[in-house]
Order: sequence, then C-alpha cells, then structure tokens
Amino acid sequence: MANNGVLPDEPHKSFDTILTLDFGSQYTHLITRRLRELNVYSEMLPCTQKIEDLSWKPKGIILSGGPYSVYDDDAPHVDPAIFELGVPILGICYGLQEIAWHNGKNVVAGTEREFGHSELKAKRFDGHVDLLFKDLEDDLKVWMSHGDKLAALPPSFHIIATTKNAPFAGIAHETKPVYGIQFHPEVTHTPRGIKLLENFAVGICKAKQDWTMDKFVDKELARIRALVGEKGQVLGAVSGGVDSTVAAKLMHEAIGDRFHAVLVDNGCMRLNECEQVKKTLTEHLGINLTVVDASDLFLDGLKGITDNPEAKRKFIGGTFIDVFEAEALKIEKAAADSPKAGKIEFFLQGTLYPDVIESISFKGPSQTIKTHHNVGGLPERMMNGQGLKLIEPLRELFKDEVREMGRKLGIPHDLIMRHPFPGPGIAIRVLGEVTREQVAIARKADYIFIEEIKAAGLYDQISQAFAALLPVKAVGVMGDKRVHQQVISLRAVQTTDFMTANIFRFDWDFLERVSTRIVNEVDGICRVEYDLTSKPPGTIEME
Ligand code: GLN
Repeated sequence: MANNGVLPDEPHKSFDTILTLDFGSQYTHLITRRLRELNVYSEMLPCTQKIEDLSWKPKGIILSGGPYSVYDDDAPHVDPAIFELGVPILGICYGLQEIAWHNGKNVVAGTEREFGHSELKAKRFDGHVDLLFKDLEDDLKVWMSHGDKLAALPPSFHIIATTKNAPFAGIAHETKPVYGIQFHPEVTHTPRGIKLLENFAVGICKAKQDWTMDKFVDKELARIRALVGEKGQVLGAVSGGVDSTVAAKLMHEAIGDRFHAVLVDNGCMRLNECEQVKKTLTEHLGINLTVVDASDLFLDGLKGITDNPEAKRKFIGGTFIDVFEAEALKIEKAAADSPKAGKIEFFLQGTLYPDVIESISFKGPSQTIKTHHNVGGLPERMMNGQGLKLIEPLRELFKDEVREMGRKLGIPHDLIMRHPFPGPGIAIRVLGEVTREQVAIARKADYIFIEEIKAAGLYDQISQAFAALLPVKAVGVMGDKRVHQQVISLRAVQTTDFMTANIFRFDWDFLERVSTRIVNEVDGICRVEYDLTSKPPGTIEME
C-alpha cells in the first residue's frame, strides 16, 4: 500500500471530539448538530458502547435523554468506565438520572410530570455561577420532558439550578467535572441552550472550536489519497443529486480521473436532466463521467406493472445494479489495460450522517441495534462479488454540512439546493403503468411546475415539489369540444427532516397559473389538482 499501512486519522482522531451517548431520545442528533454549529466536532454512539472498545479518547461525554426509566429492570445503563475516563460528563434528562443512578440509585417516578416550558433559576455559589451557567442569566427559559425525578441529591453533588417542580434541575459534582441537567439544552425551545452546550464543550471540556469545512475537506482529501494509494481506482454512481455530486467532486479533487463516475439513464429522469447533469459534471466540475443510456431496458421492463409500486421500485433497483455492474466491468477492463492505472478496488457511496445515526440509534432493550453495515442499500452483490471496498467520505456529515462542502468545492448553487429526487425517478410519479407516453406527460407537467416555482422565487423555500400523473381520466371541455383526459396532481412540501412534512401554501393565483399552463401545454391533460395531504398520513412521494 502506498501509505505504508498508516492511514491518516478519521475526524474523531484528528478533531477534539465530544462523544454523545444515545439513550434513544428523539433529540440526540440535535446535541451533535448544535455542537458542530459551535465548530466543535461531535459524534454519536449507542449508550451500550464499551469504553474499552473505543479506539479514540473523547474530550467530553454527553449522556442523552431517553424514553426509559433508569429504575426499570431492563433500562439501558452506560458503561461505568466512562466515570473513570477522567473527562467531563454532562447528563441530559435521562442522562442526569443515569448519573444519579450510578451515585446512589435515588431516582423515582415523579407525581408531577413536566412537559414543555419551565422557568429555571441558576444557583450562585459565593457570588459565582457554576461553570455550566457561566455568562448566562440567572433566570432562563428551558424546555422539559420528563416524568421521573431525583429523590435526593446524590452524595458529593450540589445543586446548580432549580425549577418550581424540579429541585434538582441542575446538579454538579463537588470536585469532578460531572454535571446533570433535567432540561433539554439542544432544542430551540431552550433559547440559551446553545450557550450552555458551549460552556460545557469549550469552557469545561476545553474542546477546540476547529471543526470547519475547510479543515475537514483538507483532511478528507489526504485521507482518501492515502486510502486509495497512488494507483487505486474508485467507482461511483451519480444521480445529479446533491450528495452524489459532492462526493464525486471530492473524489475528483482527491484522485482526478482515477475516480470513475457512472450515470445510469433509466428513462425516468426529468426533462433534459441527463444532458444537464452530464454538462455540469463533466464541463463544469471536470468529473470523469460515463453516461449509460439504459432507458429502453428500464421502460420495456416496466411494461405491465400496473398496480404494484413495490414491484416497480424492485425492478428499477435490480436493473440499476445489472447495468451498473456491466459498466463497471467495462471500465475495469479499460483501466487494467492502461499502463499507469491499477485495479478498481473501491466503491464510492454518498452515505450521510443521518443514515449512520439511523442505523446506530439506540432502539431499546428489546430490540437489537442495527449495525453500520449496508447503510443506504449498497449494491451488495457487487461489493462482495468483486471484493470492492466501500468509501464514504460524507458519512460524518449532516446535509447542511454537505451543502457547505459543495459550495467550497465550487458546485453551482442550483445543484446544491436541488430538491431530492427519488432513485426510480418519474416512474413512481406516474401512478399505475409506466409507459414512454405517460413518462413524457408527467415530465412536461413537472417541468412547468418547477419552472413556475423558480420564477416565483419559491424554490428554496420548498423542500420537495413535483407533478404526478394520476391513472384516471376526467371529462373536460376544450375549444367547445368534450374531452376525456388524464389528471395531474401537484405536490409541494416543507420539511426539515423528511420524516414529517407540511404542504406548502401557494397563493391561488400561482396555482391557477400553473394549472392553466399545464392544461394548455401538456397534451393529454385536462385537469390539475393540488395535493393537500401532510406527512403523515401521506408520504412525500405518491408511490
Ligand atoms: N424517561 C425519563 C423520564 O421520564 C427521561 C426522559 C427524557 O430523557 N426526556 O424522566
């Protein structure tokens, strides 16, 4: 190996890192995000993490909230070794109760549960506020969500904050940097929570605030180069979406044309999309890209799948791997024949941190915790069959961090802010049977809708928007003639995490304008509807 077997470090080894141990709270990932907003690197691991299995030393540890009660028989408990590590610890809600549990087990079910806003009073000692509340006002608005409480102050701790219902809303060890708080500083409902997290991470743990995208990009480029070596080749699929484009551009920066990007045209991309992606990636970003036109294969195969969205998705996913694999073999052969090149050893995947979090979040004592493997649905057959190793340069990043990286790498704004587009593309926006004619109709309508959204300056306010073609016909009258034609359904949603979504509230003039244009310009359509369903109960896509 070109790097003599010594690989540059992963972020938790090269940046001061706060380790967040997850007890299954719905907010755990927010703790990590807030710290990174403070330019402090943070990673999350399940609460069951054994300290002796950790190959790096955190600057501090945060114990998250969680839905369990520490006194239950099957409640999760942290490896007691964290208390011997000599690094500062902050317990949040369940985390506070967990600290108390390790120090006398005095936690009970409360008579009054607290959900929502509370007024917190920070306690002063000899005129000084505890380090955790440094530079914070004495009276703070905080957000609570708990039913259990500490029955007594654990030995050697003192109280650093109280609320009306929680005499132990904040506690600190008398001599060691161990803190617990009953409220959630990571949610926006605790306006000064970010300052408190800064006090912990920077003031108490002394973590450097050096998590910046410039630094990460430099380190990641060096890491990729060392990993791949001087001759190694990397293969990757691109879709024109943000993640795969940013990952591809980073690979190109790292190893140039030894990165081979493949775009599979499945015949269900948007209007002019393939040409545009090709132009941006090759001309603008300089990426070594092969476009495989497999549209006939996909569209012929989709014939006859009328009422089974899963079958559509399965067929498209499977065919994608077939096409991609065949192309990989061709590239591999060409690469092997070239004197300066080596074998394709790696497969690039644009996995993001939320996928990683999803696969490692603590799901409870009764459920097995999923492992890191197969995050994001790899073409497993390829990986195993051809012995490709996975390379995932974005797996530590949140979406907004990926966008920031994209900007640094010179990727155009339009591409960076692009709405997500599903792998099966328009095939799952043509309800019922997918035919060339149906795809063409949906494509045109979608193009008009998105064009109008952009013209109205609304694109960046909407998280995802598209037109779908419904498999029904309705009666209309056009040019005094009765027509019997299909219906387009428009959908636009706003969401931060895509787990829940609200519909976007267009004004009527806008919707009317889009409707008129679609009926006038798209043959076969005589009606346009707007989908008013939020998620849940609807999903964002129609199939
Ligand atoms: N389940 C615990 C309680 O109800 C902790 C809750 C939490 O961490 N948000 O008090």
